[in-house]
Amino acid sequence: MPIQVARSSMPDFEEYLAEIRPLWENHWLTNNGEKALALEAALQAYLDIPHVVLFSNGHLALEAAIRAMGITGEAITTPFTFASTTHALVRCGVKPVFADVRPGDLTLDASQMERLITERTTAIVPVHVYGNFCDVDAIGRIAQKHGLTVLYDAAHAFGATHAGQSPAAYGDAAMYSFHATKVFHTIEGGAISCASDALADALRLERNFGITGPEDTVSVGGNAKMNEFQAAMGLCNLRHLEGEIAKRRHVCSLYRARLAGVPGIRFLPTPDQDNCAYLPVLFEGYRRTRDEVFARLAAQDIYARKYFYPLTSAFACYAGQFDPAATPVALAASQNVLTLPLYADLADADVQRICDLVLA
Ligand SMILES: *Cc1c(COP(=O)(O)O)cnc(C)c1O
Repeated sequence: MPIQVARSSMPDFEEYLAEIRPLWENHWLTNNGEKALALEAALQAYLDIPHVVLFSNGHLALEAAIRAMGITGEAITTPFTFASTTHALVRCGVKPVFADVRPGDLTLDASQMERLITERTTAIVPVHVYGNFCDVDAIGRIAQKHGLTVLYDAAHAFGATHAGQSPAAYGDAAMYSFHATKVFHTIEGGAISCASDALADALRLERNFGITGPEDTVSVGGNAKMNEFQAAMGLCNLRHLEGEIAKRRHVCSLYRARLAGVPGIRFLPTPDQDNCAYLPVLFEGYRRTRDEVFARLAAQDIYARKYFYPLTSAFACYAGQFDPAATPVALAASQNVLTLPLYADLADADVQRICDLVLA
């Protein structure tokens, strides 16, 4: 069996069956059904925030938030991320302005941001990359000083905490992805958390065509609702989140025991409260390049991923628009980083085999 970088955790089949059985009684499959409402309530409690608005996926949640928050003009953001963060801004008519990342954790470098702010800047869109929290205090101070909106891409950070708080505690809103490959999933899915009642209302309009009642449509919204089967999967997976993260932590500790401290191999810091979402390793002056390690693993049917290579600023669809060399730390990281296979039931023996191949 090939080993992929990620593998979706599944609840017991019987548990999922029990969760979806009521749908055969009430025939209510989407549009604020009981499962979606229950999941929103559970997530509000878990994230400790007044509002969680569920979406069909994380990307559409991000686009809805950009629109609902009135983000226009330019936004300071990172090129060291998944396509979604940058594409969401561009698809909403906002120009991404790329700041470099910190070498230590590859999140946005707050000290690089202020010189990029212009009179067109309306927002900062940082990413808690790999579940490591950004420099939330410095970003908050800069946003306050310049009157900017902060929308966190917390797609990787569900289940992680910082200073005892969930990602929902930071910025004006945070987006989570519940894609099948994430730590917590709803098959496909996503959400926005926020404290503002008005923003939550605006997000619900974006999610459902701007419809407020049977005869009232007040804005040009799209359709990005989470359906009941997704929400039911979420309710099951949420019950097992702690165990999921504990199993991932075990896998990470095996990797660290073998690879940490090897000259030329660098791990990013993992705070105790992290969610073990990814296992990024940087090959910096190791006797094999990142691409050589990647190829050696692939030859044995083991598929690590070059997250995040290339930088979004280097994508073919943006050719000529951005200069990847303008963010040298992010550019170097994109050339050196490899995320190793990590999922809850990855066997110890497989981790050892992967480490053997990396070290051989
Ligand atoms: C997964 C991801 C998204 C998008 O989430 P989907 O639910 O797949 O649409 C956005 N940003 C980052 C950083 C991601 O990893």
